[in-house]
Amino acid sequence: MQGVCRHGVNVMNYYKSFLIKYAEIGIKGKNRHLFEEALVRQIKYALRKVAGSFSVSRTSGRIYVEAQTDFDFTDTVDALKAVFGIAGICPMVSMADEGFEKLSEAVVKFVSDVYFSQGGTVASGNSLTFKIAARRSRKNYPLDSMELNAKLGGIILDAFPSMKVDVHKPNIMIHVEIREKINLYSEIIPGPGGMPVGTNGKAMLLLSGGIDSPVAGYMIAKRGVKIDAVYFHAPPYTSDRAKQKVIDLAKTVSRFTGPVHLHIINFTDIQLYIYDQCPHEELTIIMRRYMMRIAEHIANETDCLGLITGESIGQVASQTLKSLAATNEVCTLPVYRPLIGFDKMEIVKLAEQIGTYETSIQPFEDCCTIFVAKHPVTKPNVKRINRSEEHLAERIDELVKRALENKEVVIVKL
Ligand code: ATP
Ligand code: MG
Repeated sequence: MQGVCRHGVNVMNYYKSFLIKYAEIGIKGKNRHLFEEALVRQIKYALRKVAGSFSVSRTSGRIYVEAQTDFDFTDTVDALKAVFGIAGICPMVSMADEGFEKLSEAVVKFVSDVYFSQGGTVASGNSLTFKIAARRSRKNYPLDSMELNAKLGGIILDAFPSMKVDVHKPNIMIHVEIREKINLYSEIIPGPGGMPVGTNGKAMLLLSGGIDSPVAGYMIAKRGVKIDAVYFHAPPYTSDRAKQKVIDLAKTVSRFTGPVHLHIINFTDIQLYIYDQCPHEELTIIMRRYMMRIAEHIANETDCLGLITGESIGQVASQTLKSLAATNEVCTLPVYRPLIGFDKMEIVKLAEQIGTYETSIQPFEDCCTIFVAKHPVTKPNVKRINRSEEHLAERIDELVKRALENKEVVIVKL
């Protein structure tokens, strides 16, 4: 039962603050400080569009979100669920320490309000098992955690005869944390995990209008990497609506990553030139190589430490191991391909979860599909590809330069 938000409306109104849990592995020493600061920053960003005003604070290894005004519980939890680095969101009651008697009254009220009030979801007569998990981080508190567990457990049993103790697999774990203030919470709503965006540098996502690349961006951002993006379009072969679709996808991704600088490159002349000069079965690979070169150029100019694509082995002709090797050959920066071992079904599931799928399946033309050959090579020979690219020598540098000069940059955010 833990980890699932079971609150009815009344109970939602009951909470005014949240304790934010994060995985602590690997964030010792100096890193911890950076991690926590980035997490606070990302939480503030995520909450800025939620109705209500919040304070987000960091005290002795704990992050708290406290509502300063009326607020929408569901919207707040949804916004927090999009913040990488959060392992759990605990709706919490916070009280001043006014002695054990007041504490025991508060714990009884907490159980009554959350589990037995009209808004609680426990049907009367159900026997609910529980465990008290007390933690005393202030050693001058007169009772230690064992004593707190025993005494508060007894008080709950007296107050709610239908409840039983189960120390191994309780339905509810009632956390009582004695700090400067006392925190009471029992629910842990799962967060997305990962690391706060911005703790691990920045990378450039090649974002198309397809299903895969937004998911790839999401996965790398989850590891704390800030994301910028580049989209290649080919007007008039691709429409403004196709471009808007990519902006919409970037917007959905930005819910998790924060603002995305989307670089839009007009690829038409480069594609037409490749089409004129190179063997048609090699078009896709050569186009992909120019996309990578241009993306790498922009990445270097914008302090990105790597490229990200939505490629997965064998998905299409341009993603066989030989094709990937041919595409990879033109890059110096590392290319991150987080979906490399995923089946389409698995990618679709993730796309649905993060909310990009519905946009991705809108039927607008993609610049790759328009110029695609009937029988693209699946086992490109890198030497031959390099020789084909020699046919572009006369004008390609100038065309790439012009495409970069005419680049449009849109800062996308929710
Ligand atoms: P996606 O669903 O992400 O479009 P895909 O299965 O259609 O992927 P390809 O068209 O081979 O695969 O593209 C492979 C990767 O190359 C994409 O995941 C994306 O990262 C990048 N890419 C392809 N087309 C474009 C484009 N027009 N603009 C930017 N990046 C692109
Ligand atoms: Mg595509």
